[in-house]
Amino acid sequence: MQKVLVTDIQRYAVNDGPGFRTNVFLKGCPLACKWCHNPETIAAYPEIYWKNRLCVQCGACLEVCPVDAINPPIPPEESQLENSSYHKIIRDRCDRCLKCVDACKYGALEITGSEMSVEEIIKEVLKDSMFYSNSGGGLTLSGGEPTAHAEFSEEILKSAKKKGLHVCLDTNGFAKWEILEKLVGYADIILFDLKHIDNDKHIEMTGASNKLIKENLDKLTVLNKDIWIRVPVIPEFNDSIDYHERAADFLNGLSGKITRIDLLPFHNWCQDKYKWLGIKWPLAHLESLDPSFLEIPAEIYRGKGFETTVGGSGFEE
Ligand code: SF4
Ligand code: SF4
Repeated sequence: MQKVLVTDIQRYAVNDGPGFRTNVFLKGCPLACKWCHNPETIAAYPEIYWKNRLCVQCGACLEVCPVDAINPPIPPEESQLENSSYHKIIRDRCDRCLKCVDACKYGALEITGSEMSVEEIIKEVLKDSMFYSNSGGGLTLSGGEPTAHAEFSEEILKSAKKKGLHVCLDTNGFAKWEILEKLVGYADIILFDLKHIDNDKHIEMTGASNKLIKENLDKLTVLNKDIWIRVPVIPEFNDSIDYHERAADFLNGLSGKITRIDLLPFHNWCQDKYKWLGIKWPLAHLESLDPSFLEIPAEIYRGKGFETTVGGSGFEE
């Protein structure tokens, strides 16, 4: 049976569609947003978290690594490197055999990305059914990027609909139109990320052009679906008044209608994940945005007639 990598199944989520949601995060994304709050979902293969606070430096992982991909610790007094007293995984040497994870008895090494079948995912989602009925909740298929796993995502969505679940598809829109069109056919609501309307900025911060994304969004708006635009607001990237005025005009100029806009404030709670993955986070210097700061841009969108939230709550105010 075919399986896909899942990094997390998050229960009782309230910001990713209406009511209480069960968010399924698939692993693998064609974009690499510098602010990504879930960096473990970018690579389409299992990765190792190395949680330095749990490591007792017993050395068991070094012993079992067949390719010497784990550095022995260097005493701090012998090195200028940060965290030099800890082991370090040399990621480009690691062949992901996962022997070190089995060898660690202290929980300091952990795999992120577990293979699951459609049946296993739906079984997990259905455990939350009792929370859906009164709240209007259901499944939110997220990532990573669901369109990057087109066939598998289609099977999940199809199966969820057969079970009578309300379904949200959370997408960055960076996909062939044929794939997106097919998947949105199963979705009750499309959660569509709009990161930046200017192509050069988009490329700088996500690694990809926004041309296809904007074209896809325009095509989606004439399908008569519920579309919630999600704008991650990142300091020094898309947080100016001028930007939001232009973005609101862009949304107003689409061929069809969108349902609402959610402004999602940047936060830096994900710093540990970057450390655990051994990735230097380029935005580590930024402080979390206070959600109240986003009320000003929210008013810009409201002024143009868009229902707009700060934070993306799926419950009626
Ligand atoms: S086996 Fe675990 S606790 Fe021991 S050194 Fe390796 S990561 Fe640290
Ligand atoms: S997963 Fe990587 S670091 Fe761990 S034992 Fe295998 S090769 Fe070595």
